[in-house]
This record gives sequence, structure tokens and C-alpha cells, in this order.
Amino acid sequence: MFSDALIRQAFVQSPEAIAITRASDGVIIDVNAEWTQITGFARDEVLGRTALEIGHWPSQDAREALLEPLRLHGRVRDLDVSLVMRDGVQRLVRVNANLVEFVGGPFVLMYLRDVTLENQAQVALRTSERELSLANEALNRQVDLYEATEEVARVGHWVIYPGDPNAHFSRGYVHIVGSPDQQTLPVGTRHIDWILEEDRDLFREARKRMDGQTLEYRWHHPDGGIRWVRSQMHRQVENGVVKADYGIIQDTTPEKNALQALQERLAFVQKITGRAPGMVYELQIWANGRMRFPFVSAGVRQILGLTEENLMEDASRLFARFEPEDLLRLRAVTLEATRTLSTMQCEVRTKPIDGDYRWLLGYAIPEAQADGSLLWCGSITDITSQKRALEQLQASEMRFRSLTNLSSDWYWETDAQFRVTRVDGNLSAVDYLPISDYIGKTQWEAHPEGATTHAWALHKEQLEDREIFHDFEIQFAGTDGRVMAVSLSGAPIFDAQGSFQGYRGTGRDISAKKQAEKDIERLAFYDALTGLPNRRLLIDRLGQALQLSARRSTHGALLFIDLDNFKMLNDTLGHHMGDELLKQVALRLTHCVRSVDTVARLGGDEFVVMLEDIGSSVQEAAAQTEAVGKKVLSALNQTYELQNAHHHSSPSIGITLFFQHQHSVDALLQRADLAMYQAKSAGRNTMRFFDPEMQAVASARASLEADLRHGLARHEFMLYYQPVVDAASHITGVEALLRWKHPTRGMVSPAEFIPVAEQTGLILGLGRWVLEKACAQLVAWSAQPSTQKLNIAVNVSARQFRQPEFTEDLLQILRLSGANPYRLKLELTESLLLNEMDDAIDKMSELRSIGVSFSLDDFGTGYSSLAYLKRLPLDILKIDQSFVRDVLTDPNDAAIARTILNLAQNLDLNVVAEGVETAGQRDFLLRSGCKAFQGYLFGRPVPVAELKLP
Ligand code: C2E
Ligand code: MG
Ligand code: MG
Repeated sequence: MFSDALIRQAFVQSPEAIAITRASDGVIIDVNAEWTQITGFARDEVLGRTALEIGHWPSQDAREALLEPLRLHGRVRDLDVSLVMRDGVQRLVRVNANLVEFVGGPFVLMYLRDVTLENQAQVALRTSERELSLANEALNRQVDLYEATEEVARVGHWVIYPGDPNAHFSRGYVHIVGSPDQQTLPVGTRHIDWILEEDRDLFREARKRMDGQTLEYRWHHPDGGIRWVRSQMHRQVENGVVKADYGIIQDTTPEKNALQALQERLAFVQKITGRAPGMVYELQIWANGRMRFPFVSAGVRQILGLTEENLMEDASRLFARFEPEDLLRLRAVTLEATRTLSTMQCEVRTKPIDGDYRWLLGYAIPEAQADGSLLWCGSITDITSQKRALEQLQASEMRFRSLTNLSSDWYWETDAQFRVTRVDGNLSAVDYLPISDYIGKTQWEAHPEGATTHAWALHKEQLEDREIFHDFEIQFAGTDGRVMAVSLSGAPIFDAQGSFQGYRGTGRDISAKKQAEKDIERLAFYDALTGLPNRRLLIDRLGQALQLSARRSTHGALLFIDLDNFKMLNDTLGHHMGDELLKQVALRLTHCVRSVDTVARLGGDEFVVMLEDIGSSVQEAAAQTEAVGKKVLSALNQTYELQNAHHHSSPSIGITLFFQHQHSVDALLQRADLAMYQAKSAGRNTMRFFDPEMQAVASARASLEADLRHGLARHEFMLYYQPVVDAASHITGVEALLRWKHPTRGMVSPAEFIPVAEQTGLILGLGRWVLEKACAQLVAWSAQPSTQKLNIAVNVSARQFRQPEFTEDLLQILRLSGANPYRLKLELTESLLLNEMDDAIDKMSELRSIGVSFSLDDFGTGYSSLAYLKRLPLDILKIDQSFVRDVLTDPNDAAIARTILNLAQNLDLNVVAEGVETAGQRDFLLRSGCKAFQGYLFGRPVPVAELKLP
């Protein structure tokens, strides 16, 4: 029960509109100000009246709805009813009522609140709630879609709101990271543990920065696998206030795997293409000219000096590398390949790298792409070395060609069956043998007559054995009928597998060489002047003749023919006349013999006729030979017409017969030669058969020569001295006379060996030795007053004196020995002085100028002409011992001796008489005016130690 006062106070002060009605009839007892405010009714208007009466409470239902709970529960709660206000406007009013015991009875305390606005708001609220739920549904659908999208896209996100204890994860996120299927987790749950350790720092830093940068890290998925995650983290800030942190992640594992697989494949491709020579590439080109390299192998570095990246960055770098000239060609080729969609191939040069350009060979296949571009798959290889090799080959071929153009050589090739497949070079140039006749045939088919059957067989064997062959000589019969001598050389060709492909080689026209060989043979075996066989050929034929003689047991003969006095003709009429005579002699000789016989010219005026097969008995052979000899004599004695002049000539003929191998070729020629000398000695213009006695003499001479050589080497020579005395028989000097102490023959006379020494030239060494020895003796004597005035006379042979260096040598000997030239006398003979007199005079004069004096030895035996005696710078005449010997018995010799002494006196020459053996001889000569003597009377030639000196 409320106290009235309390109610009163509540009533007045309540901010709510309150009406108090009598519970029994509903009459309004009182209303507060708020009520009048809300309803618009004044207090007076309503007091004592019911709400029904004033139309304020129009609805019976509403009244019931009020009264019912009041009756049952004594109160009404939040009953919304529509009440009519003073202004007639119905308003929604929320009624709360309590049944209270008030003074005198039950009253209803009714609270009103105008909820029209509130209601409207609620309606609006409800509408918006419905809309919201609709929106929510839509949103959920969106979220579903979103999450489905997230799943498909393998993305997810998380959000953390400040103040929110939980972090929120999208389903996509949960799916990716595989964390327990919770979309919210307390903030601070340690996600970082799931990240691969090496990626954690990356993550932490990004989380700190929250700047939306993309990062990638790896995540340990609970399934044991590893996930690649790409992530961005953002911070949403509004007016400086953090609204949320959120992150987006994307599972890039498949992509990564694909990428890795791709990279592995790429690496594999790179590896393969990297090992391939050159570069492999894919080049995509669009119609507008844009291009790009999807792939370039590592070879690009070597080929173009660019990296793969260089080229992938800017495809045009490829073309910038090429020679501009070659780009035009490349363009043309590319256009053509584009048009036909076929493989293109092109050689281009790079711009010079390190000073030299390189040659590249490119292949590419175009492939039309869906977007209208063309994808070229191709390769580029460096063919510089091939090119260079080719250039060199071409150059060498050029050289070869120019060589073959210059020379007569040509080049040929055959196939494995030896058929000629190619001919290059001069063969065609000379158009000697049409190449068409040659190609497709083997050599032996083309030139069957070119070589003997045997030679061809050997050659084919060589070919079958794949041998290299040199100078196989064949003959080509040319179109003009001329025969060309050809030399072929060749070598087999094998391919890389070593199988035989054929032959290649050169051919050479050796016609000229062959001709030259013939010429050389002619020169070598024939005499140029007469065309007759020369000594070589004669010797050759004689050797063959001996063999024939041995086989057939028949005789042969050699006739050695020497023209008499030919030298005189040559000297008087000239060499051309001599030549003419020789030619005519040659002709006549050939007419004297059969064609099987040989007429040869040995040289000079010497001819040899060789007769073969002239009978099986010596008598028969000798008779035949004699007949031929006579024929030759008479033929050569006929008058010759030499340039319109008549000339007479005669031969001396030496003959020897030969039978089997009794004598050697050399011996036979020697015999014939000796016989010829016999003929000469017999007065010329005659013939002599070889005489064995004479042979003995010749042999003795030959052995003497050999002995001489040995003697020289073994120092078997000695110098003896024979005194020369004056009228009072006092020794004034000596003549040095050579002695040879032969080991078996004893003392050999100089008269015997000096001529041989002369002929063989041994006199030179011997003569020098004598001069040295004599000079040494002079020097020895010069030391003694008793001997220092002694002279030594030395005999000098013709050959020795004629030597150009004689004077020089003698001067040297004098110089080296230190001998006094005034004590040296040289003895010369007349024959020596007669030939080349001018030269002799020069030498004598020169030597006389330094004191050497000259004697004319053996005077009286030769020409002894006054004319030359006057010219010669002589000091002494030596009267030959042949006159002295018989001076007392032969008046002729006495007269000669006296004449010589007179002559000498007139010419102011001294005279020495040689060979004085008796006092009578000495006295006669002394009486005749001779003042110097030499002979056994005064002393024989003796070694120096045995000389009786003063
Ligand atoms: P020759 O120059 O007329 O020498 C004189 C020769 O007469 C010497 O002979 C000598 O022994 C010889 N003879 C000297 N007195 C008499 C005599 O009273 N009665 C006879 N019957 N003979 C006498 P030998 O030594 O046999 O020499 C012969 C020739 O050899 C020399 O003739 C000379 O021409 C030459 N000869 C000697 N020694 C040499 C030499 O060293 N060089 C050269 N080139 N010829 C030499
Ligand atoms: Mg002498
Ligand atoms: Mg003499």
C-alpha cells in the first residue's frame, strides 16, 4: 500500500505522463502536467470524466486489454495502445498501469508514454533489421563466394582489431596454413613457429612494417609438406587511429613448384643447348615489329658476346651485332621463310670482334602463334673456322688452278672403279684431248695404247692395293695425231669412315721432258760434230760385242784411226776447216763399213771402227780387217773439198782383233791405240796390227809410272852432283842430277824416268824438290869461303818451266832457303824454248833480273837456229856430249864443236862442254876456245859428300 503523499509526490514530479482513474468506472481523478502535455487535454476538461467520454480511449479492445491484466494481476506492463489526443490525432502510447489502493478505494495509476516516434523508430528498426538480415544474407553469400573464391585462388586473410582479443582468419587462410579449423584464435597465438626458420626474420620485419609490401615465405603445413606463401600485411588507420591490422596471403606452392619444374627443365634445356655448339633460341616477333626472346641458350655468350639476359632484355641487340650489309640478306631470307612458313637458313657476318668478323650460320623454323605473332625456334652456329678453311681451300684451289694454268699440270679424280670423274686444269686449256673423251673412262680405257700391257697390269695392281703412285708414264694420242707423253701421279681417297672413294692426282705433259731426255742421250752418246757414237757409246757397244763374240765364238776387230797432221790443218786453215774435214772423214768411214759395224769418234782427229762377227778363225778375221783397213786408207786418202779448196789428208790406223773375253774393253782400246802409234812411227798413212812386243814396252812404262809415284812417296830420290871445271880444271860449280834408288831395280837413269815423270805431271813435285835441295846445298856451301863461290846448275823440264807459277815458286824457294840467286843456273832444252818462246823469254828475263842465269842444255841436237839464240836471254851453251864423244875422230863433230864455240863467242855466251871423258877431248876443246868442262874426266855425278871440293 502506497501512502497518499508518496503517490502525490510521484505523481507531480514524475517525468512521465500519469493519469489516475477510478478503478470502478474509469473516471479520471487526476492527471499530471506531463499528461496534459502529451494528450493536449487540459486538467479541467478531463477531471471527473472517463477517457472514453473524452474520446481519448476509443477502442473497447484496448480497454479490455488494459483492464484484463489489471483485474488479474493488478498491473499492466508496456501496453501499447492508440489514443486520441485533444487535437484528434491518434498517437501510440505505451501504457503501464498499477492498481493501487488509494483514499477510499481502488484506483488505477496509469502511466503514458508517447511512443509514436519510438514505435516509428522501431518499425524503422525492424525494417532495417530485416534489410540488415537480407543484407547479411547477401553478405554471407558474398562471404561464401568470397571464401570460395579465396579457396580457388588459394588466398586467405586475417584481421586483428585493436581491443579485440581474437584474431580472425578467413577460411581460405585456414585452408592454406592448415592450422586447426578455427577462424578465430587469441591474438598472440604463435604462428611464427610454423614458418620455416630461415624465413622468420623476413616475416617479423614485414609484420613490424605493415606497409603492404609483398613478401614470400615458406610454411610448415601440418600435412608435412611445405607451402610457399606470398603475403601482404596492411594497417588500416583512420584519423590517426588504428582500426585494424590485416594480412592477405596467397599459396604460391603450385606456382613455385611449377616454376621450379620449369626452371629445372630450363636448366636442363640450358645444359643441353649450352653444350651444343652455337646458340639455340626462341624469338617471338609480332607484326608491329616488336620482338622478344623467350629463350636463349648460354651459347649466345660465345656466339655474340652477349649474355642471355642482354638479349632477353632487348631482342634488337641480336641484329645490332650483324654486319649491316648482311642484314639485308637476312631480311630477305626471313621474309621468304615467313611467307612460306618454312625453315630459313642464312649466313651472316658479325661486326668485327677483336678486329675480325666472324661467320655465323642461322637456322630457324617459324611457328604461327595464337596472337598472330611468329615464334622462331632456331639455332646459330659459328662457322668462321669452316669459312676460313673454305676460303683457304678456295685460295689454295685458286693457287692450284693458277699453277696448273701456268704449268702443263692438270688435276684429275676417279671414282672407286677408277673411272675419271673430274679433270681440271690445262688438259682442257690446250684442248689437246677433249675431256669428254676422258670422263667416265678408266685411264686404260681412254688410252689403251699409252703403256705396255705389263705396265698397265702393274698399275692396276697398284690401284687395287690403294697405293700412292708417282710418275706413271703413258701417252695420250691427241686429236691432231700428235702424241703427248704424260706422267700421272695419284693417291687414293678415303671418306671419314675409311672406305675407298677413288683416286685423285695430277697429270703432267712430259713431252718436252722426254724430248730433252732424248737430246741428253744424244749428247751423252753421240758426237755433236759428226753425229757418230762417242767414246761412251763405243765402249758400251764394245762391251756388247764382246758378249756376242763369246756367245757366237766369232772374232771382231777395232781399227783406231788417227788423221796425220790434222793439227797442222787446224792451226793453218782454222778450226772450221778442221771440223769440215772431220765431218767428211766420218761420212767416208761409215761408207767403208757395214751398217752393223760401228764408227765412233773418240774426240779430236781420232776415230774407231768396230767390226763384229768377222769370222771364227783369226786368219779369216785378220784378212777381213785388213781389207777394211785398206778400204779406209784409200777412202781417207781421196782428196777433200774443203770450201772449194782441195785438201789432202791421210790416216794412221792401228788394228787389234778381239775374241770373246780375252781382253777387256780398255785393254783393247789401248792395243789399238798402241798399234796406231806404231803406224805413226812407221811413217804414217799406213796401218799396223797390234804388236805384243810393243805392248811390253808400254806395260813397262805403265809400271814405271806406278813405281815413280811410290818412289816419290817413299823418298827414293836423291840428288847427285857432277863437277863443272874451268880451263885450269878447277871446280867452279856442279850440275845437280837426279837419282832414283829403286828398291828392286837399283839406280834408275833419269833418262828413263824423266820423260815418264813429264808425261804424268809427277815432274812438278820432283822438280820442285830438286830446286829446294839445290838451294839448300847452296846455302850450306855459302857458309864456307872455299865453297861459297860454287854454282849449282839445275835441270828444268819443259812442263815444269811452262807452269805459270814457275817463277813465283822459284822466287819463293830462294826466299825461304836464303840461297844466292847468282849461284843458281837453270838448264833448259831447245825444244822447251822453241814452244811459247815469248813466255819463256819473259820468265827468263824476270829471273835473270835477280841474278839467276840460264844454260841451253844439249845444244846442237835440236834446231840450233841462230835467230832464236839471239833472242833468248841465255848465259851458257852446253855442247851436247854426242858431239864431244867423237870430236877427235869425226871431223863433222869437230867442226860442229868449233862452230858452236865461235857462235857462242859472237853471241857473248859461255860454253860448257859435256861428257868430256878424255884429256884429248879436253885439249881439243880447250884449243878450240872452250873454257868450261864437265865429264867423267873431272868427276862422275856423286852424292855431295863424295865431291872433291877445294
Ligand atoms: P843432261 O842434263 O845432259 O846431263 C848430263 C848427263 O850426261 C848426265 O846423265 C850425266 O851423268 C851424263 N854424263 C856426264 N858426264 C859424262 C861423261 O863423261 N860420259 C857420259 N857418257 N855421260 C856423262 P844423267 O845423269 O843420266 O842424266 C840424264 C839426263 O836426265 C840429263 O841430261 C838431264 O837432261 C836429265 N836430268 C837429270 N837430272 C835431272 C833433273 O833433276 N831434272 C830434269 N828435268 N832433268 C834431269
Ligand atoms: Mg843438264
Ligand atoms: Mg846435257
